[in-house]
Amino acid sequence: MKKEILAGISILYVEDENDVREFTSKLLSSLVKKVYTAENGLVGLETFIANKDDIDLIVTDINMPKLDGLDMCIKIKEHNEHIPIVVTSAHNDPDFLKRAIDVGVSAYAMKPIDLYQLVDSIIKAVEPLVLKRELEELNISLETRVDQEIKKIKSILDAQDNIVMVINKEKITNVNKKFYEFFEVESLEEFFEENKIFYDCFQDQYGFITKEILIAQDSWINYIKDLQEIDRVVKIRNKFNVERIFAINIDNYENKLDYYVLSLTDITELKEKSNLLEYQASHDSLTGLYNRNKFKDLFGKELRRGIRYDNQLSLILFDIDDFKKVNDNYGHQVGDEVLVEISKRVLSGVREHDTVVRWGGEEFIILLPETNIDGAVMVAEKIRLLISEIPISSENLNITASFGISKMNEDDTKDSFILRTDKALYKAKDNGKNQVVTI
Ligand code: GH3
Ligand code: MG
Ligand code: MG
Repeated sequence: MKKEILAGISILYVEDENDVREFTSKLLSSLVKKVYTAENGLVGLETFIANKDDIDLIVTDINMPKLDGLDMCIKIKEHNEHIPIVVTSAHNDPDFLKRAIDVGVSAYAMKPIDLYQLVDSIIKAVEPLVLKRELEELNISLETRVDQEIKKIKSILDAQDNIVMVINKEKITNVNKKFYEFFEVESLEEFFEENKIFYDCFQDQYGFITKEILIAQDSWINYIKDLQEIDRVVKIRNKFNVERIFAINIDNYENKLDYYVLSLTDITELKEKSNLLEYQASHDSLTGLYNRNKFKDLFGKELRRGIRYDNQLSLILFDIDDFKKVNDNYGHQVGDEVLVEISKRVLSGVREHDTVVRWGGEEFIILLPETNIDGAVMVAEKIRLLISEIPISSENLNITASFGISKMNEDDTKDSFILRTDKALYKAKDNGKNQVVTI
């Protein structure tokens, strides 16, 4: 250590010989922050007490009037037991040394004072203190830096629209504001009072990651992490039964093993919208029945299954009779009303596995799996009566419809099967409408 380290410290220098005191204090003043001087032990003690927060080190003579140097140090130590002490002394007898050790003197400078030796002793005595101060400063600056970093990260996390969690070895260590807001809890402890493990809040529902799946995994985090993005979707319910749908994303935190950042993006609206779009793409907007697109899908599947397993499959194609007149005489709106009401009546007359489709304007198709031609005729007759026997719409119209039926042949394609059914329908129209014809 060099004498530069003295620049930050203050010394109390106690010496009864005026010349020595003045000369030495002048020299010390050029090296340290401040030198307090006293001419005997009593004044030294008073000066120390008055400035105890500033004085870092005592340099003192031993033999002095009123209070000797070592007795003064004993009293000073009552105020600051760790204060370093350097004594300047001509003594070197064992008794004196023993006393000095008892008092806790840090270093000696022999009299007559050799200034180099004195400065050296002071440096030695003050070294631990300076080191301690430097370390404290370093710690404080480190602490504030870590504090600032944490605050920065926290504010970034809190600004997120997503729920964000930091996970260490499958344990949630930090969460952001959104987490508390959604789960309506004040602390993580409160959350874990309700949920033993994080995924306990997941709802076991088809189409979402379920608790059941996760319990069976070695690491639920890695399981979710390795899923395709489209499958990383969960439904979560909070303690007030608010349910939302979230997409989960899991990243390794700074590439550290076992450290993850898990975020939950609320996709409830998106999901509802995609469900709506899916619905719109497959349903007729007026009647709510399946549309032609959806029918093509289902029909292909049923046809393949029917042929493969030798199952019966029948089709009913029906068309409202003289529907143009309804529109012409009562307006398009009444026509719409009729279409909606007929759709309802048809649905009420078929089984769960039958598919009712709005084929075109006032034409409907019904796909009947595992149904032979007689079964299909029964269904068609039932629907014919459901339509014709009770007047329809605000105008109480008597409406009828004509039905064509056929059953699947082994060598049928979709087109050949529909075409044959359409022929049967034509026949029904030709034969005078309001009837069922098979082919
Ligand atoms: P047929 O007994 O031979 O079947 O005669 P039709 O009058 O029922 O048959 P046509 O094909 O001549 O007329 C069908 C009418 O259905 C014409 C069309 O304006 C009407 N239509 C088709 N789609 C709708 C709809 O969504 N709403 C209403 N109100 N009318 C529709
Ligand atoms: Mg018609
Ligand atoms: Mg028609």
